[in-house]
Formats: sequence, C-alpha cells, structure tokens
Amino acid sequence: MALTLAACGGEGAGGGGGGAGAGGSAAPEDLTIGVSMPTQTSERWIADGANVQEQLEGAGYTVDLQFANDDIPTQLQQIDSMITQGADILVIAAIDGTALAGQLETAASQNIPVVSYDRLIRDSENVDFYVTFDNFQVGVAQGNALLRGLGLQNEDGSAGTATGPFNIELFAGSLDDNNAFFFFNGAMSVLQPLIDDGTLVVKSGQTSIEQAAILRWQQETAQRRMEDLLTSTYNDGSRVDGVLSPYDGLSRGIITALTNAGYGPTLDAGNPMAVVTGQDAEIASVKLIQDGVQSSTIFKDTRLLAEQAVEAAAAFAEGGEPEANDTETYDNGVKVVPSYLLPVETVFADDIQSVLIDSGYWTADEVASGQ
Ligand code: BGC
Repeated sequence: MALTLAACGGEGAGGGGGGAGAGGSAAPEDLTIGVSMPTQTSERWIADGANVQEQLEGAGYTVDLQFANDDIPTQLQQIDSMITQGADILVIAAIDGTALAGQLETAASQNIPVVSYDRLIRDSENVDFYVTFDNFQVGVAQGNALLRGLGLQNEDGSAGTATGPFNIELFAGSLDDNNAFFFFNGAMSVLQPLIDDGTLVVKSGQTSIEQAAILRWQQETAQRRMEDLLTSTYNDGSRVDGVLSPYDGLSRGIITALTNAGYGPTLDAGNPMAVVTGQDAEIASVKLIQDGVQSSTIFKDTRLLAEQAVEAAAAFAEGGEPEANDTETYDNGVKVVPSYLLPVETVFADDIQSVLIDSGYWTADEVASGQ
C-alpha cells in the first residue's frame, strides 16, 4: 500500500517540518513541499518547476524549489537539505532514477511522502506515487511521426503513398532515465516491423538502445554522434532519410550535424533535410517545425502534469492517497508504483496553431521568434 501521511505517520504527523496536523490531515498553509527538478538547461524543466511552484503556492503551500544542474551529487544534496529544512512532502524529477534510495529512506523515516515526477524513481520502496505522461505512447507517437514524415503513413494512420526503402538512424535518451526505455521501446514497436520487412534500413546497424543512447540528453553529444554516423555510414553518396530523435534538444543537435553536411535547409529543399522527430515542443524546435526544418515534436502539456502533482500532494496532505489511473505499468524494481498517466499530442507544422498557440502554451510571437 502506498505510504501516506496517515498510514506512515502513525500519529499522522507530516514530515520534518512537523507542520502536518494529527489524523493525517493538514492545511496547505502548514505544509512545505520540496520540489526537486533536474536541470534548467531545457525549457521544459524550467516550465515544470514554475508551473508546480505557482500551482502549489496558489493552493496555499510553501514551496522549496531547486534545480540540480544535471548533476547527481547536487540533486542528492538539495533533497537532503529540503528534508532538514522541514519539507513535509517531496516532488522529485530525478536525474538518475537509481541514485536516490538513501534520501528516500530518510524521507520515509520522517513520514514524508514522495511523488515521483515525470521520471520514475527506481530501486526504492519509498516512492509513493508517480505522475507522468504515457511514456510508451510518446515513443509510439514518435515512431508514427517518423513514418508520417517519410510519407509511409497518412495523418489518419493509413498507409501513405511512399514505399521506401528509407535509410534511418535511431537515437535514444539517457540510460539512467527510465523514460528513455519507454520512449525507445514504444517507437520500436512501430518501426521494427518495417525494419524487418526492409522498408526501413538502419544503415549503421546501430539498433540497440545502448548504441543509440545519449547520456544526460545532451544536444552536443547527439550532434557528435550524428556527425560520426554521417562519416562512417553515409560517405558513399547515400542519404539518411529519417532520424528517430526522442527529445527536441537532441533533434537540434542532429539537425546541426545534417546542415553542416549539406542537408536542407528545409524538408522541401533539393537535398532535403532528413525527417527528424522530437519531444517537448521546445520553442526553438517549434520554430524549426514552422520553418520546415524539423519535421515533428511530441507535445506534453507540463501545465497538466503540474496539476497532477498538486493533486497528489493535496491527497497526501489530507491523509489520503492520490487517485491512480495505472497500477500495472511502472515497476521500479522493488514495487509497482501507482501512477497517473497523461496523454500526449503529436505536432507537425499544421498543428502549431491549434495545439500550441490556441491552448496558450506558446504565443504566435514566440513561435515566430523561436524564443
Ligand atoms: C522527459 C522528456 C525530456 C527528457 C529530457 C525525459 O525524462 O520525459 O520530456 O525530453 O527527459 O529532458
């Protein structure tokens, strides 16, 4: 059973701050919530931090928000300090999903519920709830977006007019992030049958997630790997037609490598830019999509994720348990963590207005300027 203020506290007290009332129920005004985010190098995490903070503060909680600069010791130290400073509930997006067991043990010993945010915290019993997007479906959407960009699939999922074969290359995220496996496996569930029947050819032969992975999701590392692939595999006059990329930052590194090698500038050019997928609808990539350079991205509305984090915190504050909509998928190696999964949307150039601008996620001016 999930740990709750009521269940784990015995007396129902809250965490180190001792702000939570007896009986497992405490007023938001009496509670401090520690929010640990991985990095500020990517817009999505800045937006996540801001949204969670704003919504929690709006509900009356005190918020201790920290970004860890993609450095594991920094994140551990920040969480330690949140606990010593009296956090009653923790919301954590881990850099390395396997590195937090010690901190979480301390949290559990002080009856501090832990909400795993976006990325699953692994190898610890002391994870009480998981709020995230449907990560396997993100990968499925990326695989389908690659097919659609290549003309193998229509918008409605029916077969497109193109027949292939197409040369593609595969990129994956950071192997210490549990999501990277879900994205890659979801995408491969779509792509593998077409690789098997010869429609898609991974010309480098690098088809495993270990070969495709980019540590800490670094743009420069993705650019270097793409440059290496172009040199090793496409120096015989052949072209790479499509690239599976799991994150917009990587997509931009890949596109830089392709541009430097003479591809593009756009998907319509004589020697066109390869079809590159993405994720997060980062503003720089949304502009590239608008300009016909990047093919697609997957939009994850971080405002909705923040809302779920706030609901989870509120449930714990009231001495209850957050409502899960998935209790089977996210086994963290020790237990299956009850989860709330949000849906995602695929964005091509034609969808920017309806999905991103009309919803207020980006303004038309931001899209036009790319910032
Ligand atoms: C998130 C993605 C993000 C990636 C890199 C993943 O854990 O789910 O949205 O693109 O990290 O920051």
